[in-house]
Amino acid sequence: MRALKYKDTWNLSIEEVNDLHAEAPYDVIVAVSYCGICGTDVGIASGAYPAAVSGVTLGHEATGIVVEIGEKVKNVNVGDRVVINPTPYCGKCRMCQTLRINHCQNKFGTESGVSYDGTYADLYKTTQDFVYVLPEKVSLKAGTLTEPLSCILTGLRKIQPATMTAYSYVFGAGPMGLLYIWALSLKGIVPVLIESSPSRLEFAKTCLPHGVRVYSNLEEAKSDFFKDVKAPMDLVVDTTSGLLEELYPELACGSIYMSIGLKQKKVSIDTMQLADKSLTIMGSIDSMHGSFIEAFHLIVKGVIPAEKLVSHIYPLNEFKQAFAAIGCDLSQKKMTKTSEPNCKVLIEMRAGQ
Ligand SMILES: [Zn+2]
Ligand SMILES: [Zn+2]
Repeated sequence: MRALKYKDTWNLSIEEVNDLHAEAPYDVIVAVSYCGICGTDVGIASGAYPAAVSGVTLGHEATGIVVEIGEKVKNVNVGDRVVINPTPYCGKCRMCQTLRINHCQNKFGTESGVSYDGTYADLYKTTQDFVYVLPEKVSLKAGTLTEPLSCILTGLRKIQPATMTAYSYVFGAGPMGLLYIWALSLKGIVPVLIESSPSRLEFAKTCLPHGVRVYSNLEEAKSDFFKDVKAPMDLVVDTTSGLLEELYPELACGSIYMSIGLKQKKVSIDTMQLADKSLTIMGSIDSMHGSFIEAFHLIVKGVIPAEKLVSHIYPLNEFKQAFAAIGCDLSQKKMTKTSEPNCKVLIEMRAGQ
């Protein structure tokens, strides 16, 4: 079978590896249909997020068809269309036992596409607790957005603004920014979206919830959306990981700043203001107890229009074009500006699903 391997920064390649089989009683083998390219994959490929083990198969946002099951598997059958939850946890370590499964201390060796062979492959091996059967009417493409949405719901649980009329801002109109916009709007909060890339902005316009607008800069957003050039910032979701220092002086008293990007940036902030203005600055990563099933339901019920966020689909052998579509140029070994409208890019493993 084929697998997209991470070797080193900027060095990914398709390799022929041994097929996977259900060996243990609860094993499930999935023939991958689609796998979304995540910011994490781009970070690994470009060296911005040096988390992956050399030689690992990348990919973690996938759906597919069950092709083999272990003898004790009860919840799925061969032929079922499934969504894969790619982040198992041990349930036994201190983090797992204190409601922090996203920081499981035994993650190493189990995290798909980072330390465990992931889903940019013809086959993926998991266990029955980490697959969910998709109803007939829900596409395998839509299902790939379950994992990123689950990460967002994890963050959303921590965001408790003082009022639903909070002046809220989401920076970055990639898949994470758009999913935050949708999730916040379910909570009754209507944020403004800010995206400096014209190609990202153009795509975002096509899949916003009612009442939400997207702008290329903060000034325009404040004056046009809030009709106030000094519009306070009660809630900020920063998907770029680069704006804390710049926006810090503008944060309203009692405001919340959520940072979810995985790019390094050292900043300096005034800690006196942190207390004096009752500011909350926080981060969030991965899935929490129940967030994956919550995300699955929101997509299955059509509450979040997941498939609309998909801008491109490429077969595995065109993975370089797929990464380039979101600005990760593996051939030139650099991040570039994108020219076409884009959001979530999928790699297709099996044609015609
Ligand atoms: Zn992801
Ligand atoms: Zn654990």
